[in-house]
Amino acid sequence: MDGIKSVRELAVEKKRVFVRADFNVPLDPSGTVTDDTRITAALPTIQYLLEQGAKVILASHLGRPKGKRNMQYSLQPVARILATRLNQPVLFLDDCIGKDAEQAVADMAENSVVLLENLRFHPEEEANDEAFAKQLAALADVYVNDAFGTMHRAHASTAGMAPFVSQKAAGFLVEKELNFLKEKIDVPQHPFCVVLGGAKVSDKIGVIEALLEKADQILIGGGMCFTFALAQGKNIGNSLAEPDKVELAKELLEKAKARGVDLRLPTDVVASDAVDMKARTLGATKIFESNIDNGWQGVDIGPKTVEDYASCIRAAKTVFWNGPMGIFEIQASAEGSFRIAQALAACEGTTIVGGGDCVKAVRQSGCTADITFLSTGGGASLKLLEGKPLPGLEALKR
Ligand code: AMP
Repeated sequence: MDGIKSVRELAVEKKRVFVRADFNVPLDPSGTVTDDTRITAALPTIQYLLEQGAKVILASHLGRPKGKRNMQYSLQPVARILATRLNQPVLFLDDCIGKDAEQAVADMAENSVVLLENLRFHPEEEANDEAFAKQLAALADVYVNDAFGTMHRAHASTAGMAPFVSQKAAGFLVEKELNFLKEKIDVPQHPFCVVLGGAKVSDKIGVIEALLEKADQILIGGGMCFTFALAQGKNIGNSLAEPDKVELAKELLEKAKARGVDLRLPTDVVASDAVDMKARTLGATKIFESNIDNGWQGVDIGPKTVEDYASCIRAAKTVFWNGPMGIFEIQASAEGSFRIAQALAACEGTTIVGGGDCVKAVRQSGCTADITFLSTGGGASLKLLEGKPLPGLEALKR
């Protein structure tokens, strides 16, 4: 990694090592972690530091508590899992800064681990507030960023604190992700097929623009396809859309055509007359081709689209997938995402899945072993694909 030290190159014995990890795991309403992929992915760095006799201070965000202390987003359940996985106690501190945290860290023995409470309970984390970054930095002698999933964010713990700690390095997970993604995405084997879904087109405009230079095929699903449908003058009923992005969607469609990129949109969608996210249920469902009637909301890609996308995916040499094809949190609208996961598994080329939701869909459809690479970072892998610098990485360079 250009100009960035690996954690292996640092002397960490007896040092207080602040590890910015990514423990942004999905929790069910009872606070149980439903997918521990990200915890597992963080273990190699933590275990290495413990073997070297470091005092390991773990920090992460979880969900979007919007700068307020909200126990629904507490990292406590993660502390319990870590203790089991590391086979040693993990002291959980109920704040990430302040006198108590400083004292607890000062009292740490070698080879011990503390986990700080959710960084985003403080609005200063996402605001990349300098005073807050300094408070975090004051806890540590060494800073290790192993949170690949938040490398694309310039927050206090992911970038802001780095200049205030004398030694800094990337952790093993960041190293592994970068090595793989850079190699496969910078010079992809063709046909290069990119599957994009998720809620909003606004999050993905930059990446679609960049992909027009790189990809042979872009397959669009999820909520974002309805903004494109509006751009094509279709009726989308009550589906999710961003009317202020319709013009942009039109431009992207035109650019794709001009560059000869095969940008595909669903030819049929599953829609429902009632979506209850809390109860995770749908009302009646119906398949619409082209236009969706008023009163119906598109919730998943339809069977014809699944077939079409799956055959593109199977024929590709490189496939990158980010963003679910439908509201996959609800079983009745998860089929499209599962079928896309299975198509990736059946593809003989290099298959890369980026981001928590898609990785979860891959796991739930039971085909993890047949995917070449499951990235822990959706947004970060998209930024890499876009060819943009990651603030977390840049901060390690300085
Ligand atoms: P993102 O964070 O942008 O990858 O979006 C993920 C979210 O997109 C998931 O929570 C899905 O439920 C949501 N999503 C996918 N398809 C749709 C759809 N057709 N309508 C509304 N939300 C959707």
